[in-house]
Amino acid sequence: MSLDKYGWDAFFAESFAPLARDGYAAGRVFLQHNKIYMLYAEAGELAAEVAGKMEYEASGPDDFPAVGDWVAIRTRKDERKATIHEILPRRSKFSRKVAGSRTDEQIVAANVDTLFLVTGLDNDFNLRRIERYLLMASESGARAVVVLNKADVAEDVEAKVREVRAIASDAPVLLMSAKESEGVEQLLPYTGAGQTVSLIGSSGVGKSTIINKLLGTEKQKVSEVRASDERGKHTTTHRELLLLPTGGLIIDTPGMRELQLLVREHGLRDTFEDIEALMSRCYFSDCGHKTEPDCAVREALATGELDAERYSNYQKMQAEMDALAAKQARGLAALKKEKMKKIHQELKKHKKRY
Ligand code: GDP
Ligand code: ZN
Repeated sequence: MSLDKYGWDAFFAESFAPLARDGYAAGRVFLQHNKIYMLYAEAGELAAEVAGKMEYEASGPDDFPAVGDWVAIRTRKDERKATIHEILPRRSKFSRKVAGSRTDEQIVAANVDTLFLVTGLDNDFNLRRIERYLLMASESGARAVVVLNKADVAEDVEAKVREVRAIASDAPVLLMSAKESEGVEQLLPYTGAGQTVSLIGSSGVGKSTIINKLLGTEKQKVSEVRASDERGKHTTTHRELLLLPTGGLIIDTPGMRELQLLVREHGLRDTFEDIEALMSRCYFSDCGHKTEPDCAVREALATGELDAERYSNYQKMQAEMDALAAKQARGLAALKKEKMKKIHQELKKHKKRY
């Protein structure tokens, strides 16, 4: 299928099969602009909107398509337009909390295969932050690759690489100097045909430089697209899912750049396996690791087996997670109420009409 070059594979084909039988076509979102979604599809590049039914049934922002999503569409080929009827199950997703008090997830990128966690080996270097990125990646379903950039201006490179390797578990740790084009080729194995990659990292660590090297040119130049808004007004904007010369794809959305941590339990487990293992060795199963006797965590802290800073980072995240879980529980209740209200309103309208 000609969609292969956009990352279509057996995983998506499987969930799409029944939709194909119903006559839907598939497309991948490469740009979201207000309520318009730009898609790569067999019919070419299409501007799409979500179907009314889909919009009505959506219970939160994560029920709407995001850049990287595969969607089932009805195409109006003559107009180069389409209607989105369903989002295919996501293989991975990055989300952040929606601004304000609600804890709904907003998907900022979907179906990323590999995430490059970019850190500068200058003042930006921070092990705790890398830990957070690893957690975020493990949470997303994407494979993580740690990129240590600016090797040219770094001090104690060896020691820093060693420290990162110690916390990175299975994630490869790559050293490079993007500006000097040194070591960037280490990213090529992850950018093969149909593979989708994305980057996170603080501002100024070299993400744009890396993207431009992968593209072999300036992103600005190759990503321009003319889109039209609801009133048909034309605007020029930039596509956020780009084809790479290596056959892979890269997602670069503003949302990815300001990603917030939305942690869930299993992500924390994977990243802090060692601490969880220690805790299971405490004498009391409900040990608070403060004053209890035979506490494996305090022992490990005393001997230095467990790094105090790492432990306090774990505690901080645990607290954040508990707070988030409580917030989510409250948010869900409110959302349900909202939906019921909507249904009641519809019923009222219905009664008035008949
Ligand atoms: P972004 O904000 O993460 O997209 O970072 P940029 O790619 O815009 O890079 C920020 C600055 O760091 C620019 O001035 C780059 O030229 C510079 N930079 C990027 N990579 C390297 C590198 O490997 N070494 C050095 N010394 N500077 C770099
Ligand atoms: Zn304990």
